[in-house]
Amino acid sequence: MTASRERCPACPLCEAPGAADLGVGAPLPAPGAAPRWRRCGSGGSLFAWPPPPRDALAAHFAEMAYGDAERADAIARDKEPLFAHLLARLQEARPPGRRLLDVGCSFGAFLERARGAGFEPRGVEPNPQAVAVAGRRGFPVACAWGLADAGLAPDSVDVVTSIDALYYAESPLAEVRAAARALAPGGLLAIRTTNKAWLAWPAALARRLAPRAGRVFQAAVHDHLTSMPPRALGAALARAGFVDVVVEGGATTVPLERAAPSTRLAYHVSAALERATGGRVHLSPGVLVLARRGPAAAPDLASAAAPAL
Ligand SMILES: [Zn+2]
Repeated sequence: MTASRERCPACPLCEAPGAADLGVGAPLPAPGAAPRWRRCGSGGSLFAWPPPPRDALAAHFAEMAYGDAERADAIARDKEPLFAHLLARLQEARPPGRRLLDVGCSFGAFLERARGAGFEPRGVEPNPQAVAVAGRRGFPVACAWGLADAGLAPDSVDVVTSIDALYYAESPLAEVRAAARALAPGGLLAIRTTNKAWLAWPAALARRLAPRAGRVFQAAVHDHLTSMPPRALGAALARAGFVDVVVEGGATTVPLERAAPSTRLAYHVSAALERATGGRVHLSPGVLVLARRGPAAAPDLASAAAPAL
């Protein structure tokens, strides 16, 4: 093992040391060292290292479409089918109560839909402008970087949703542990996230043929800090005390007829693979992951550092 591999940090999803440097830069703000994508040798998760400082990330988020109230509402309108499907799945799974917390709730579009479905929603969101707008819409929203920083009381919610937010967390493992602590036993966690870690292999191959091909991978993962195979995310959920983990492919955030041809192709091919393998192979670019908080705290929970407020 080389010195650079040894210096590489632990995986933010499974804590395994020794991630490999993919040699592909991450398009993130870089006031210091430019982040590059690393691949965990254990679960195959990707993460950008070093992560940019939070103030640089906050400035970047504020400049993006999802940081602007008007454009964020347009993005949310595209997600209506996803919101409706997610709420229907939550109702089917019968949470123990109606207290719902949306992490990375942005300007509150999903909170509105959840309230309409009979939930009592609140949020956590790092963008102060979004927190203020959601507050004016009548939702209690804590301004915090993520769930791990929100200081939630144990057993204080029945449903946690994370829609296109987990890949902006510095430590997805800390986030799912925090969700497990905040949820009542039997509570539900629903995560919509992307599934692009598998693209690292074709990207690495393509880079050998054309050094600029790494840009295809950069475009696919956008400004995310991590990208996780569903299997690795499922393992992290089990470690955090979740059971009944279900992964659904085909979770698009833009109607497929309006998506780029490459995106449409990726969803169609992945759906065929998922059917052909009885759901064992998940290459869908977007996934919905549902899990239930187990009846007892997992051993990991006891060691997780968190203030019990
Ligand atoms: Zn890992």
